[in-house]
Amino acid sequence: MLSFESSFYEIIGILAVALIIILILLIAVGLVQLAISIRINKFIFPRFQSFILDSFYSFFESVFNIFNMHPDILEEFNIKLKNQASLEEFMKVPPSKRIVVLPQCLRSINCPARLSARDGIKCLECGKCKIMEFVSKAEELGYKVFVVPGGTFVKRIIIKERPKAVIGVGCFPDLVEGMKIAARARIAAQGVLLETSGCIETIVDWNKLYDKLYLGLNREFRGDP
Ligand code: SF4
Repeated sequence: MLSFESSFYEIIGILAVALIIILILLIAVGLVQLAISIRINKFIFPRFQSFILDSFYSFFESVFNIFNMHPDILEEFNIKLKNQASLEEFMKVPPSKRIVVLPQCLRSINCPARLSARDGIKCLECGKCKIMEFVSKAEELGYKVFVVPGGTFVKRIIIKERPKAVIGVGCFPDLVEGMKIAARARIAAQGVLLETSGCIETIVDWNKLYDKLYLGLNREFRGDP
């Protein structure tokens, strides 16, 4: 009985040590890949890298802190990585199966539109912010655009619309969370980080957002000469 118990604990011990070694190896590979990718500004196995980064994000943050590197570098890299991981799939999806999710904080503080529990905020085209122009172009291409107050709404829209691809805009935590939800639902996601965070009149680089809108579309869709 004793020898059975001791061999059982021995096996558990060996498994635990093996697991720790695997974790250390994964982190080491992730760190090397991260350093090389940031240095050469190119992604190496983006899906794997994204998985490692998400799994050990706090650890990578601590390493950045130790080396006095700005956390924005890691956040931007994480979003670029996720974008790259699903880029090919995203480009194959026609605009009619794509949606765009914008945060309500992009609106003008004097926005007259009201929140609907079903569709979020429906732009009334008052022209006080750039959402009006963007929605018009996106809808012309075949997209559906939603202006939403938060993550719960995003989940609801994804369940209702069942898109094959999504473009999301948000601050870092919201965007990463949204992109994880999309990945779990097998939806190809492209994210654009807000240039300023906060809750009102935030700023996005509209050029970056328009570039996402046109991904995979030919000149005829883009309206290029
Ligand atoms: S353009 Fe649309 S979203 Fe922007 S402030 Fe006017 S109604 Fe609101």
